Amino acid sequence: MRIALIAHDKKKQEIIDFATKYVSVLQKHQLFATGTTGQRIIEATGLNIHRFRSGPLGGDQEIGARIANGEIDLIFFFRDPLTAQPHEPDVSALLRLSDVYRIPLATNSSTAELIVHALMKE
Ligand code: PGA
Repeated sequence: MRIALIAHDKKKQEIIDFATKYVSVLQKHQLFATGTTGQRIIEATGLNIHRFRSGPLGGDQEIGARIANGEIDLIFFFRDPLTAQPHEPDVSALLRLSDVYRIPLATNSSTAELIVHALMKE
């Protein structure tokens, strides 16, 4: 599967912990991420991840374009619901496109756990 990983700043540690815990699952898939999220996960896990621009600089939109082109199958997007994001319109656009194309998207670590367990059964 082609999996996109994104985390807002206050959720970066959570996605790093998630990626570390499930590194053996994730490494079987083609991984993409926004710039900083990808960098941090690569540093922590050594996973091979294609990095787009940082989210606030267009990375969410780059992933959105990949979704529209049918090039993303699953999204882990650990959102911070308690902090205003300067790129909120980009975040909304990404969520909207995931619904337009019915791409599964986890917005928190509990949903991500359920999905990754489904992946493990494949
Ligand atoms: P980042 O972007 O991984 O470059 O921090 C994530 C985001 O805030 O959308």
